[in-house]
Amino acid sequence: MLSRTEIETWLQQTDPDALETLWRMADRVRKEYVGDAVHLRGLLEISNHCVRTCAYCGLSRHNKHLRRYRMTADEILECIRQIADFGYGTVVLQAGEDDGIQTEWLAQIIRTVKQTTPLAVTLSLGERPFEDLQCWRQAGADRYLLRFETSDPALYSLIHPPRPGRTAHRLEILSRLRQLGYEVGSGIMVGIPGQTFPSLADDIELFRRLDLDMIGLGPYIPHPHTPLGTGQITPTIHPSEQVPNTEQMTCKVIALTRLVCPEANIPSTTALAAVNPKTGRLLGLQRGANVVMPNCTPARYRRLYEIYPGKTTLSETALACRHSLEESLRSIGRTLAVGPGPRRRRANPPQSEETATRP
Ligand code: SAM
Repeated sequence: MLSRTEIETWLQQTDPDALETLWRMADRVRKEYVGDAVHLRGLLEISNHCVRTCAYCGLSRHNKHLRRYRMTADEILECIRQIADFGYGTVVLQAGEDDGIQTEWLAQIIRTVKQTTPLAVTLSLGERPFEDLQCWRQAGADRYLLRFETSDPALYSLIHPPRPGRTAHRLEILSRLRQLGYEVGSGIMVGIPGQTFPSLADDIELFRRLDLDMIGLGPYIPHPHTPLGTGQITPTIHPSEQVPNTEQMTCKVIALTRLVCPEANIPSTTALAAVNPKTGRLLGLQRGANVVMPNCTPARYRRLYEIYPGKTTLSETALACRHSLEESLRSIGRTLAVGPGPRRRRANPPQSEETATRP
């Protein structure tokens, strides 16, 4: 098992030969524990309204440059039918933290999806009250994604101001989601201004402790209409301590996460594809990831869900996106998975020499 010190040493590693070893280890562990099939989760960005003021995110309510939308129930259900027709196993309903998404309204949509399609339903709607999470679970929602973004409390409070009058803590919500029977996903951004190597190693250790079912990792991408993107909020660390928000650093985090959480479902994220549209997505899959979340949001809304710049240039229609994905997966010797693709726990995990290898 990788120790905390080894994780940090790997994060600082820049030697190309050593990194090749890391990529190979992660790929072998990925193959051994979750196989070659890549799960596709159709991502539907149902609203870009947000009550929060996160310093990194383009959906922040302080961003006045963004036209806001919320999809209707009919629009959502039509897209979900298409996702099922494409043969994807899961729909992910994501939004800003939008109080306009009413509890019962969404519960009805979830019930309809579960009654009329074989899809697993994943929600990614931010910090909602326990009663909402419970209601949606009872309606049939299977999974919930809520990134803790960084395990460094000082950095977290700097970039993620609390909602006035509420004291919700993301780690507490993750534990409640588990109690409710959701499959639980979390994750971080890599290269947030002010993020250090020790704090990134802590993040990976925290993934292990939380025993997460899904782990989302993407590079932080500066947004020009946010306090972090404009430099209005600046970190206090020395530049040499700063984790870079590069493709390579994100791949290191994916690879190390695969080694410490071998059973987890780990997507090769859109943010990784945004920093390098040519190689990002496939590199992630070759360095530990086993999930892709094709964007199935209608084009007219997709361009408005601008959490960071560059995301909207990946603007194929959902169908074209599926075809090109299938081809690229074949090119790296991977197949398309069938079905919802939940986390599979192994009763007797194989003794992998990889997880014991030193950096
Ligand atoms: N509102 C929900 C929440 O906060 O969990 C879901 C939507 S939120 C936009 C989804 C994720 O986008 C966040 O957890 C964050 O990691 C990522 N994100 C936001 N702004 C980003 C940026 N500038 N660069 C990279 N990722 C970003």
